[in-house]
Parts: sequence; structure tokens; C-alpha cells
Amino acid sequence: MSTLRFHALKEVFNHRPIQIKEQARRSEIFGSNVFNESTMRQYLTREAFESVMDAVSNGSKIDRRIADHISTGMKEWAISKGATHYTHWFQPLTGATAEKHDAFFETIGNGLSIEKFEGGQLVQQEPDASSFPNGGIRNTFEARGYTAWDPTSPAFIYGTTLCIPTVFVSYTGEALDYKTPLLRALQAVDSAAVAVCKYFDKNVKKVNASLGWEQEYFLIDSGLAMSRPDIVLTGRTLLGHSPAKGQQLDDHYFGTIPNRAMAYMRDLETECMLLGIPVKTRHNEVAPNQFELAPIYDEANLAVDHNSLLMDVMEKIAERHNFKVLFHEKPFAGVNGSGKHNNWSLGTNTGVNLLSPGKTPMSNLQFLTFFINTIKAVHDNEELLRAAIASASNDHRLGANEAPPAIMSVFIGAQLTKVLDELENVTNGKLSPEEKTDLKLNVVGKIPDVLLDNTDRNRTSPFAFTGNKFEFRAVGSTANCANPMTVLNTIVARQLINFKDEVDALISKKDMKKDDAIFNVLREYIKTSKPILFEGNGYGEAWEKEAKKRGLSNNKTTPEALKAKVSQKAIRLFEELGVMNSVETEARYEIEMEEYVLRIQIEGRVLGDIARNHVVPTAVRYQNILIDNVKGLKEIYGASFKKLAKEQLNLIEDISSHIEGINSKVTKMTEERRKANAIENLENKAHAYCNKVKPLFDDIRYHCDKLELLVDDELWPLTKYRELLFTK
Ligand code: ADP
Ligand code: MG
Repeated sequence: MSTLRFHALKEVFNHRPIQIKEQARRSEIFGSNVFNESTMRQYLTREAFESVMDAVSNGSKIDRRIADHISTGMKEWAISKGATHYTHWFQPLTGATAEKHDAFFETIGNGLSIEKFEGGQLVQQEPDASSFPNGGIRNTFEARGYTAWDPTSPAFIYGTTLCIPTVFVSYTGEALDYKTPLLRALQAVDSAAVAVCKYFDKNVKKVNASLGWEQEYFLIDSGLAMSRPDIVLTGRTLLGHSPAKGQQLDDHYFGTIPNRAMAYMRDLETECMLLGIPVKTRHNEVAPNQFELAPIYDEANLAVDHNSLLMDVMEKIAERHNFKVLFHEKPFAGVNGSGKHNNWSLGTNTGVNLLSPGKTPMSNLQFLTFFINTIKAVHDNEELLRAAIASASNDHRLGANEAPPAIMSVFIGAQLTKVLDELENVTNGKLSPEEKTDLKLNVVGKIPDVLLDNTDRNRTSPFAFTGNKFEFRAVGSTANCANPMTVLNTIVARQLINFKDEVDALISKKDMKKDDAIFNVLREYIKTSKPILFEGNGYGEAWEKEAKKRGLSNNKTTPEALKAKVSQKAIRLFEELGVMNSVETEARYEIEMEEYVLRIQIEGRVLGDIARNHVVPTAVRYQNILIDNVKGLKEIYGASFKKLAKEQLNLIEDISSHIEGINSKVTKMTEERRKANAIENLENKAHAYCNKVKPLFDDIRYHCDKLELLVDDELWPLTKYRELLFTK
């Protein structure tokens, strides 16, 4: 083993589990670093408290005088918990979270100082917008941006800093972050869903979209990870031969969590408890050293913030345990990649989950309404939903026989398929009393019983109904959930508005009863949405063919997929619902395309470096050893050496051919990069990176991985897959 690898591996033995002592019950510490309702009651005046609560539930504005009261209370609380600084905490379109800390401390002359935090500082800050991606918004509008407090996500203390969740917008109001369009989409789905709920229950005043994410990740010893330039710079391995043992024995999934990983998880969970992130589930995933963490679901905006915060916290805690967390969708070839299932549903202020069948026929009709409208929304906007999960890293997963394909479809299970089939035959026009009774008793009325023993699970579906929620499984592990959640809630809002219009029209123009009208509209939706429903194996080739026949899109790469974001239809959709204006939509497209180009560009450079500077020199060195050996054999055995040196001679030639392969392909890749870089048009550039540059990665990797098998392990400088994946 090379000295480099030897030292990295030796270090692992110093990285033993840190024993974590949990001092308190989790329910006792939960949320103790969060400025939540009970803390607010303690630190705020009644007026200030009510003003915040009203902003949270009704979106009302908080006036400036009250903001001063709130900031004072917040500061008192934060200082009592040891905080010295505050920051606006936001999610710019870099994908990471951003913060700029300012101290509470201020001097007031004569050598005196105080701790100060005013309403103005709570409500607004001005980070330099020019250093964040803006997709051309800055050229069109004023350069400056500001962050504004989002009272619907509570402030929290991390370390010694009070963090205030904020939106990030340009001075002319264009969103520069993930949160702003999400909040607008949540508002749109709220009002559209409330209007539909009124058919069933006049008391519904608010509908919240909920989100429960499941975060998959790899934990790799930090020393080993650091020894791999590809992991350090791109978050994934760009080369590396599969180990003799991978995941084929299925011995990792749900297996005993290794001690070091367990110590990390416990430490992480304690931190999550303090921050009010309700993490609940932890387990091993399919690949070695792969794990999953899931919380109890929450209101979508808060859940998105929690996931972004969690990803930060995971990296920080990992340092303490000498781990590196890999969030990349495909850090290792040949073993499973990571996703982030987004479980989604809609809940009313009266405590009803609109995607959960109820106890009465009426509540089941409400369930069916939301269920079928969601299916219709996905059907009508499948391409946009696909675009919402597109990224260079997620491309490795989608359609790679381990994650849902790039084709969007909805799985609902055999029982609900049967229900929809029956509803499809509902009479056109007014229903007879007998038909209604039959529907109530035998179709709609039976749904809860049906679902009780509906244990259907289809892991290959990108969008599956799982009893009382939809699970959007195609989301990538690095994604900010705001992106898919914005799209999903927007398309459902649009659909619910259309639905209400159609039902109302039948009631007023055709003199139908409400139920009749609802059944009639739903029946038509079932018919038109059929192509999106798929119960079979989403990984199979047959599905690709079938989906094509059905007219479903199959956009396999990010540049192809993203196009749907800026279709006339998408631009109009976002605009009409007030989620994003056309400038904002186009800006996002540009940012994501640009990011795609940059990621592939970086990967290309890193791969070229490793291949030429690590792999080739190592291969040459080993080849020289072989050449010396052959020369020695010749010296001793003379003419008959050839028989004895046969294998060595073959090896020498094989090595030469792989070296040649690497050199020619790296040269070709560099040339293609140069050509791509010269392309002005961003779309063409992204396609060049996707179709000309990226395919060469596989060729280069092929030769490198072959050399890894041929070259003496003693000389190989890069930490191998077996060491990365099986070191605990
Ligand atoms: P899985 O079998 O896929 O692991 P679970 O039943 O464990 O599914 O739930 C996964 C996630 O779904 C959890 O984070 C859970 O909180 C969330 N979830 C459950 N109910 C809802 C809901 N009504 N809305 C959103 N998420 C939900
Ligand atoms: Mg799941």
C-alpha cells in the first residue's frame, strides 16, 4: 500500500467513536434553542406576541414599533442563551445557506458599550447581492439586494449566533433565493385549497402544505475522504474500481448501525433537538456506509428550512467525529446513490389531512377530490416537475436502475386504481339517487377499509401515493427541497383553481347539485390523467417504450430537462399564480444551466488532473519495475527469457495501451472543453458540456480503473473503493 494510503488508513484507528452522553430527555430539550411560541410568550409583550402569531397564521404585516419590541425580546433571550452575534439566515441560489454575523455589541462613546438589536436589524439587512447568483437580474434591475425577516420560520440560536430566517430579494422585489417563490406558492395552494374545501366544510380557513423529507447520505472517514482530490473538489469519486464486495449481499440495509456512525448520529440528533428539528428515524441504507435520517413532517416552509439547516449541522458535527458527509447523489459508481424523498400532503386548520381518506362518504369525496386533482396536476405538468429535480448530480441517479426514472409517473396502488376505474363510469350529467347511494356505500365509502390493507409499495415510482401522502421520490439528496416544493404546490394550486371553476360552472349553468358536479369533473380528470398513472416497474425498458407511446417526456439530462422551466406554459403558470414573474423564472433557468456547466467543467478538470498526475505516473512507475524484471530475466536466462517473462510483457503492453487511452481521451476532453467554453449561448454551451465533454469521463475512467486492477497495490496512490466504503 502506498505510504499516502497507509497513513490515511492508519489514522482511522485514532478516529474511534466519541461517546456521547445524553443529559436530558429529548422532549425536554426539544426546541430549546428556538424562539418558539412558549419562549415568545415569556420574552414578548402580549401585543408583540399576538402580532407575530398573526403574521404566522394570517400573513399580516408587523409594524415597525412592534418590531422594536420583538427584537428587544429576542435579544434578551439570545443573550441569556450565550449568543453574542446575530445574522439573517437565508438560502441564496448557490444551494448552500448564507449568513453574515454582526455582534450585538456596540460602543456608545466614553469607553462605554452596550448590547443592541433593534427592530430595523431584525426586519431587514443588506448583504452584498453581487456575490450571489442572480441570473441576469442584476443587469436588468438595481444591483442591491436585501434580506427580510420571515416570521413564519422561527429564529434559532446556532453556536453563539442568533439566526433569523429571511427571504432574499432584489431592491425591485425579484426573488434571489429559494424561499421567496416557495412562500408565494404555499400561499397560492393555501387559498386555492381553502376555496375547494368550502364545498365540504365551511369552517376551513387555512390549508398548509406539509413536507416530510428523508435525507440519505454517506459517511466517510475524513482522512480517507481528504486523500481523494475528487471527493474534496466535486463531492464524488470520478474514478475507482468496484470492490470485490459491494452491496450484493444486502447486508447493510437496516443492519446494525456501526459504532462510529451511531455516535455521530446521536450527537447530531441532540443538536437537532435543540434546534427544534424533529428528527425521528435513522437507519442504514442500501450501500455500505450509506444512511438515512428522517424527521416528523412539518409545515413545508419550516421543513425546508429545517432540511437546509440540517445539512449544515450534519457537516459541522461530522468534523467532530472525523467524518466527511457526502450528500452527492452518486458518490460511488456501482453502489446505490442518495435521494431525498419529499413526502407531501395538505392539511387544514381544522386538523384534516386532505390526502387521508376519512370516516364518512363526504370526507372521502373530499379526499378523492384532492387525490385526483393532484394526479391531474402531475399529469398536466410532468415535464415541469421533472425540471424541478434536475441537476448535474441527480442525472447520475435518474434512470440508472436504482432511482426512479427521468419519466414522471404516479403510482396509486391496485385498490385506488379500482376506485378510479369505478368513478370513471359515473353517469355523464346528473346522477340518479340509486347511483349516488351505490357510490357512497360501495365505492367512496369503502376507501378507508381498502387502504387499511393496501400495503402496496412501489420503489420504482418517482411519485407514489403512500396511504395519506404523496411521496416525490425523484428528488436528489443535495437538493434544496424548496425547488420541488415550489413547483408541486404551484401546479396543485393551479389545478385546484381550475377544478373549482369547472365545478361552479356545472352548478350554475347546468343546475347540478354540488356532488353531481364534483363527480362529473373528477370523472373527466380520471380519463384525461390516465397516461400518468403507472403501476409497473419504472426501471424496466418496457416502461420507456410505453411512456413514449403515452406521450410522456423522458428528459434524461439536466440541459434537456430544464428547458421546461422556461416554456411559455411554465412562465404563464408561475406568473398567473404570483409565484414568479417571467424575469424571475428566466433568471432561475439561467442560474441552473450555468451551475450545470460549472459542475461538469470542474469535474472535467479534476478528472484530467488525477488521470495525468496520479494515475499515469503511477502506471509508468509500475511499468518500469516490470521492465527491470524482464531485463533481469533476459540477463539470467538469455534467449529463453521470453517464455518466463510472457505475463510481464503482456502487462507492459496493457499498461501502455491504457496510458495511451488516458492521454488521448484527456487531450480530447480538454479540446472539447475549450470548444464548449468558446460558445456564447448558454443553452448550447450546456449541451456541449453534456454531450461532448461529459461522455469522455467514462472513457477516461475506464482506463484508470483498469490500471487500478493491474498496478501493484503498494504503488497505487488513491484510496480505493473498498477502503472508502468498508472502513467503519
Ligand atoms: P417510508 O416508508 O418511505 O420511510 P414513512 O412512513 O416512514 O415512510 O414516512 C416518511 C416521511 O413521511 C416521514 O418524514 C414522515 O414524517 C412523513 N410523513 C408522514 N405523514 C406525512 C404527511 N401527512 N405529510 C407529509 N409528510 C408526511
Ligand atoms: Mg420514503
